Amino acid sequence: MKLTCRCCGKKFESEKIGPPFCSERCRLMDLGAWASQKYRIAGAAVKDEAQKQNDSDEE
Ligand SMILES: [Zn+2]
Repeated sequence: MKLTCRCCGKKFESEKIGPPFCSERCRLMDLGAWASQKYRIAGAAVKDEAQKQNDSDEE
């Protein structure tokens, strides 16, 4: 079955079922991008939480 790599957009042939990646490298790159995005969102949420606590301290 013909698949398009989610990371680099390259078309490749694969019988595997799962996220389409042309190579292990692309799979890791996408995982890395996903992980760093997740960490960014988590970091922002933590910052918001800390700010809320500071606000309540001032009351
Ligand atoms: Zn690729």
